[in-house]
Order: sequence, then C-alpha cells, then structure tokens
Amino acid sequence: MATATADESDHAAGRSMQALADEYVEGYELRDAEDANGNAGDYTPSERERMLIQDAVHGLIAGDDFLTAAGLAYLERQRQRRTEGGCLGCGAPAGEHWGGAPGMLRAGLHE
Ligand SMILES: [Zn+2]
Repeated sequence: MATATADESDHAAGRSMQALADEYVEGYELRDAEDANGNAGDYTPSERERMLIQDAVHGLIAGDDFLTAAGLAYLERQRQRRTEGGCLGCGAPAGEHWGGAPGMLRAGLHE
C-alpha cells in the first residue's frame, strides 16, 4: 500500500484556499443576471473586474473571522447531514447523491 509523502499529504489536504479561490474566480461568470429592466442575461467580468473580485476574496479568506465562520458552518452542516442521514459529501437523502443541475438527483456520484 502506498503511503503519502509530506508533499502529497499537503496536496491531498487541499490546494490552498487562495488557489481554490483563484481558480473559481478565473472561471467565474454571472448567469441569468437581471438588468435594470428585468431582462435576464449573462455577464463575463473584464480582467480588471476579475482582479478586483480576486483581491476581495483574498482579503476575505485572509481573516480569522471568515475562517472561523467557515469552519463552524462546515461542522454544523456536516452535523446536520449526519443527523438527517444524508450523504456527508453532497447532502442528498440517504442512498442518493446530488449532481448535475441543482435539484437533480444522480445515484453513484461519490462511488
Ligand atoms: Zn452524495
């Protein structure tokens, strides 16, 4: 059985929150935005807007207040899923898994 090296363990523990945020922001686009006239539409941020979003997220995740709140929210969510018998990975009812579009059930997502 293979054992993880320290580097692999660090990687397995997750890319840094900053790297995750950067990846998310790089691919972020607003979907179904509603303009002042109530018309739905999509919006792709400019590079400057993307930089501003990234900077704001970096500032947010650098603070202990956010990290503490995020950790507590995660623990509470998992406790609730465990109490309700849902999947700890996605929160769907026991034996099912959320996947694809919101509200859609797809069996075997975590298998
Ligand atoms: Zn699941």
